[in-house]
Amino acid sequence: MKIVIVGGGAGGLELATSLGKKLGRKGTAEILLLDRHHTHIWKPLLHEVASGSLDAEADAVGYRAHAHYNGFSFKLGTLCGIDREKKVIKLAALTDDEHEEVLPQREESYDYLVLAIGSISNDFGIEGVADHCIFLDSVSQAKSFQSRLVNQFIRLNRDLANSQTDRKLHVVIVGGGATGVELSAELFKARQWFSTYGLRHVKAEHLAVSLIEAGPRLLPALSERISSAARLELEKLGVSVNISTAVVRADKTGLFTKNEERFDADLIVWAAGVKAPDFLSNFDGLETNRANQLLVDSTLRLREDKSIFALGDCAGFSMTGPDGEETWVPPRAQSAHQMASLVAKNIRHIVASEPLDDFKYSDYGSLVSLSDFAAFGRLMGGLSMGGLNVEGRIARLAYVSLYRMHQFAIYGWFRTMLVTLSDKINHFIRPRLKLH
Ligand SMILES: Cc1cc2nc3c(=O)[nH]c(=O)nc-3n(C[C@H](O)[C@H](O)[C@H](O)COP(=O)(O)OP(=O)(O)OC[C@H]3O[C@@H](n4cnc5c(N)ncnc54)[C@H](O)[C@@H]3O)c2cc1C
Repeated sequence: MKIVIVGGGAGGLELATSLGKKLGRKGTAEILLLDRHHTHIWKPLLHEVASGSLDAEADAVGYRAHAHYNGFSFKLGTLCGIDREKKVIKLAALTDDEHEEVLPQREESYDYLVLAIGSISNDFGIEGVADHCIFLDSVSQAKSFQSRLVNQFIRLNRDLANSQTDRKLHVVIVGGGATGVELSAELFKARQWFSTYGLRHVKAEHLAVSLIEAGPRLLPALSERISSAARLELEKLGVSVNISTAVVRADKTGLFTKNEERFDADLIVWAAGVKAPDFLSNFDGLETNRANQLLVDSTLRLREDKSIFALGDCAGFSMTGPDGEETWVPPRAQSAHQMASLVAKNIRHIVASEPLDDFKYSDYGSLVSLSDFAAFGRLMGGLSMGGLNVEGRIARLAYVSLYRMHQFAIYGWFRTMLVTLSDKINHFIRPRLKLH
């Protein structure tokens, strides 16, 4: 039996590792992971890559070596189509930086297919956003933001040194969810380290960060208390927080809000929501919701094709909300993790000709870390028995442990402990910020 997993992200890589160890190594099934990149980085770390706090190269997992050690195989490829009758997926031609073809357009057959291709930023069709805003959907986008940030700080330092200006670096972040809030704080930490590492003319007052949120408060997934505490901390750092402010247009040098208020910006980051990739809305006629997510049944198989599973941000799992309304499992790392665990179980059930289990989403809470400055969150389930607000070191510890749990799922306990130790050592021997 051949099981093909497309997308080696938060959910897909955990699934490939689990199935590789349990089925691939024994030769019970062939497990193939496909991804459009050579390496994996846990997406919730992208705002740290963007600020330079995290070196993506140092933290990335190379798919080929990881596959070799965990009983599955890996192929580089970008999914672009499917023929469900023939049970083949289509992969786009692969070209290098010089536009030379590396691999032609190809097909890959499957017995069971798992789609775990994540999500992209949703610009809601707002004029100018796609052309002028930076998204944090991939490592390359996060790195591109980081290199623009470095260049902006170098320019600013030169101008300040020549006393030519009293200008500031204006960064506008649209979206007051976890990504926007966390990135705002990360930028202040980056500014501190840039000054320490030689750009000494750039002082705190030379960085102006505006956070814009259309809704009535920051962090809508967290309680009002945590939302207010996070806002207070950001304002203490110097972030200008603008709630109930809808963006209607963006251009090269800034954006306009619904009230025709202008925000000038050297860099604009768009983090105002996500949707599954657009091509899924027209993917061999498969049913999707408004966020382009493929509709799945209780076992996480597509409602219209029982040989295809979908998980994570690209899967639309419908639930009933507290007032009887239809809600969807949120696009979060914990959802991808829980779905990957259930799909791993169900594929093992299929191999053993057993009935499949149903998915039940458990919300274990949300955490948000304002870089080195503060952390907040709410833990649900487990020891917290119904919900526990956490702050400070405990919240920071819980936040870091989310990534450690992902590493545990892909590396196991022993290697995760070694990686944790090496991170601690690197903290002392490496620069605190990536400067190039
Ligand atoms: C900056 C940022 C911060 C976040 N912070 C948090 C947080 O604090 N907590 C939280 O719970 N969630 C957070 N999230 C959301 C979380 O990262 C996602 O919900 C989670 O990564 C989804 O996992 P996934 O496996 O569905 O997709 P992903 O992890 O996005 O993986 C998708 C994979 O599919 C590959 N792929 C995509 N398209 C194709 C294609 N056509 N062909 C082949 N491969 C393809 C990609 O290369 C990628 O490897 C954050 C997201 C971002 C961007």
